[in-house]
Amino acid sequence: MSLRYRGRFAPSPTGPLHAGSLVAALASWLDARAHAGTWLVRIEDVDTPRCVPGTDQLILSQLAACGLHPDEPPVWQSQRTALYQAALDRLLREGHAYPCGCSRSDIAQALAASGHAKPRHGELVYPGTCRNGLHGKPARAVRLRCDETITWVDRRLGLQVQNVAETVGDFVLKRADGLWAYQLAVVVDDADQGITDVVRGEDLADNTARQILLQRRLGLPTPRYLHTPLVLNDVGEKLSKQSGAQAIDTCKPVAALRAAAQVLGLPPLSAHGHGPWLAEAVTAWRARSV
Ligand code: GLU
Repeated sequence: MSLRYRGRFAPSPTGPLHAGSLVAALASWLDARAHAGTWLVRIEDVDTPRCVPGTDQLILSQLAACGLHPDEPPVWQSQRTALYQAALDRLLREGHAYPCGCSRSDIAQALAASGHAKPRHGELVYPGTCRNGLHGKPARAVRLRCDETITWVDRRLGLQVQNVAETVGDFVLKRADGLWAYQLAVVVDDADQGITDVVRGEDLADNTARQILLQRRLGLPTPRYLHTPLVLNDVGEKLSKQSGAQAIDTCKPVAALRAAAQVLGLPPLSAHGHGPWLAEAVTAWRARSV
């Protein structure tokens, strides 16, 4: 028996919805509707220094203006920290996670000393210094012990393989500044909310192996994954809130939806008004759905 479809859109409230984030929102909504499933919105506000007050409500109203209404009340990650703590406690108790006392410069020095100083996306691959104890240093972050290669199949990108130990290393679950890491919060929440299908932007595909590893350590199911194409700006960079992408024009929701649908490779749809347009889009999505 297959589980009833549950999908989600999980924006970080760091800025308004823009043409790029609308693609992920629309794709996750269409996929849920095409599978007669449930669509949820989760506000990912754990990285508090990056959050902009008021953008959570702004994003919800932008989604509503486009006719994208969640089927259950939205949740805020900032109100769910007890769940993250319980997961972390379990990982620590079972020896899958360990406290780490290294600063960034400790990590850089250890890597340079072993001749492995290559950063990846600006992140240093943790050399495992505190795996067997803190050696008298105070605990700063908590990391997950990673020893394996994860293979998974994306519904659009196909077979994916990542040696998590070599490419990422033991990654952070709780940060030195006390904040919960995205990887832990997203895995705990997807499982707690019964998410069967994650549909999100391709920029997040690289996180999936880490998330699957974490699911396995916590004994949680792995959802199906579909990573959607990104919207690039004039100079070929990913459109993002950080690079100052413009908010979608909610006075013209169908124009914004049409642009998102084009990125998703849907054929041009004739309907006017966002209700009929969305209905037509569900049919088009279902026709080519995998
Ligand atoms: N909150 C993340 C973001 O806005 C998305 C997380 C996810 O969909 O897994 O980039």
